Amino acid sequence: MRPAAATAAIAAATVMALTFSAAGTANAVPTGKPNQIKYTYVPPANPAHQAIYDQMKQGRALEHLQELLSPLRLPYPLTLTVAGCDGVPNAWYNNDVIKVCYELLAEMLKNAPKEDLPIGISRADTILGPVLDVFLHETGHAVFHMLQIPILGRQEDAADQFAAYLMLRLGKDEARRMILGAAYGYNIQMPPGHRVTVPVDVFSDEHSLPAQRAYNVLCIAYGADRKLFADVVEEGFLPKKRAEACSYEYEDLTFAMTTLIGPHIDKKLAGKFHEVWARTVNERRARLARPPDTPGATPASVEAGGKP
Ligand SMILES: [Zn+2]
Repeated sequence: MRPAAATAAIAAATVMALTFSAAGTANAVPTGKPNQIKYTYVPPANPAHQAIYDQMKQGRALEHLQELLSPLRLPYPLTLTVAGCDGVPNAWYNNDVIKVCYELLAEMLKNAPKEDLPIGISRADTILGPVLDVFLHETGHAVFHMLQIPILGRQEDAADQFAAYLMLRLGKDEARRMILGAAYGYNIQMPPGHRVTVPVDVFSDEHSLPAQRAYNVLCIAYGADRKLFADVVEEGFLPKKRAEACSYEYEDLTFAMTTLIGPHIDKKLAGKFHEVWARTVNERRARLARPPDTPGATPASVEAGGKP
């Protein structure tokens, strides 16, 4: 979800631009530094979310995300938060804080299949993919806001693209797992079947529809590496007609990311991006490999499928 303060940001940017030009410099982009990520685990009010809180805290999930995002050079701190949202399964960025609701995390756990999928997506990755995707999507909003990045098109689509681009920086195996996991997370929100009936006002949403978001992330991935994601087209998850132009879509995204975001990345720290993820994900993946009621599942995940 985009920040409610976007208008304020535009006003601030305008004021800054005016101030800077008055001072004789045209550069209104704020300067930043790396290691600006903070985190907070807010204890849940709803006992149904206690296990998610415990599991994330014990697994140091936010600490790992903090390390992963540390290369971002931001002008001021960005706080990652998990918290209860009074029954609303959502996530948003506002006032320098990313908030991901336990209700949304519970929904992701509930949506996970009981077993690995025959199409080559593990159960754990159907959870890890959407969770990483939502944190990176909200980080996209934060980066656009804090660094006053100009956006053509809809900010929600831009945040999705930001997330996809970062997932593709994880190295081939992990990138594939997270992209497919994220696409699963969008697809599961659609009614099954090739034809769906929806109220016409869902098309007015500021986000693209879940099926579009799934196609979009798969297209960016296929555009980035058509060998690694060849089966996505062969199996019909991404229609051939769309796939033909995906390399151009990825090119556009790469141009925007390297031009607009690249200068705000600490290159030395960013070199460890994949290593940080690979080092920290395996434990979580093992814990999420089975549903909570399966022998061998850890007690901490007992509630995982609980309703918000
Ligand atoms: Zn958003």
